[in-house]
Amino acid sequence: MKGFAMLEIGKVGWIEKEEPVCGPLDALVKPIALAPCTSDIHTVWEGAVGERENMILGHECCGEVVKVGELVKDFKPGDRVLVPAITPDWNSLEAQAGYPMHSNGMLAGWKFSNFKDGVFGELFHVNDADGNLALLPDNIEPEEACMLSDMVPTGFHGVELADVQFGDEVLVIGIGPVGLMSVAGANLRGASRIIAVGTRPVCVEAAKFYGATDFISYKDGPIAKQVLEMTNGKGVDKVIIAGGTVDTFAEAVECLKPGGKIGNVNYLGSGDYVKIPRVEWGVGMGHKQIQGGLMPGGRLRMEKLAKLVSVGKLDLSKLITHRFEGFDHVEDALMLMKEKPADLIKPVVRVEK
Ligand code: NDP
Ligand code: ZN
Repeated sequence: MKGFAMLEIGKVGWIEKEEPVCGPLDALVKPIALAPCTSDIHTVWEGAVGERENMILGHECCGEVVKVGELVKDFKPGDRVLVPAITPDWNSLEAQAGYPMHSNGMLAGWKFSNFKDGVFGELFHVNDADGNLALLPDNIEPEEACMLSDMVPTGFHGVELADVQFGDEVLVIGIGPVGLMSVAGANLRGASRIIAVGTRPVCVEAAKFYGATDFISYKDGPIAKQVLEMTNGKGVDKVIIAGGTVDTFAEAVECLKPGGKIGNVNYLGSGDYVKIPRVEWGVGMGHKQIQGGLMPGGRLRMEKLAKLVSVGKLDLSKLITHRFEGFDHVEDALMLMKEKPADLIKPVVRVEK
């Protein structure tokens, strides 16, 4: 079978591979639509997961089941399915402890295009099919379904980590597709003021659509200074970090109220340490919590998030700015993600009708 792969750090191309083997609990799936992710760019061009040779890329798609193992109960060939980017081993101790994303190792629930071939192949393997697949509702179009693999659950996980409550004033740092879903999630959870940080006009427009009430640019000076000015020096209740650098944490701590919480879903690609400003952290006693997490993945979450879309409470169409038809366009979509032109939020490739 054919797949679009990372050949080595900094190099991509089409390769031929053997079809994956389907174990008794597993499924083989062919993509219907797929999307590249900022994480694919980190993987190939920044060596984020280390050196990988001839590894098929991709972890965002929806697909059609082609084969299932003999112990799979709820899925059969021909089913159209949602596929989460994170596919935990649900019988692991970590999953039992409530951290399925770290099943059998830190971040090891992330398998596609990390420990094994990803979804940019003619076929791909899904471990623990009953625990990780979900049926694609008829009224969700495949392109939008791709946003349920990673963008929605990751953005929403930032909201969970920050523990957004009714009426909270929330700062969302970074309004690429992940941060946009944090805005949408914070809005659904009843945030009052949502201050969004980002500059691309298309993202600012989308953030407004998803519920942001105020906007600042990190290019206009320190984020914390701007937020404190806007909040009469008091700061915000919650911060979600979905963009920026290791230094962004210091800003987040500075503009957070005592008792506030920070939820980080941003990938920290460089810098050895995250610095926490001593005084603004209440000299160690400010009750300012910082949590960072990989989204949990799995079937239940996919089913629940998909319901938000199918009943009309979450419109994913605003995330998709570029559409391609045909598997061969995977490369174009990935390169677009790498270049991040100003009018891009997410590109999607429709592979099959
Ligand atoms: P994008 O690159 O599309 O968006 C990044 C956002 O951050 C943009 O709004 C950008 O602003 C803003 N930004 C850039 N630099 C700064 C800065 N110095 N200070 C504040 N804001 C800044 O990324 P995605 O939305 O696709 O992904 C966001 C992050 O989430 C990535 O690091 C990605 O790897 C990570 N991720 C994490 C996952 C998880 O499970 N934890 C899963 C998927 C992704 P501008 O408008 O100027 O571009
Ligand atoms: Zn992704």
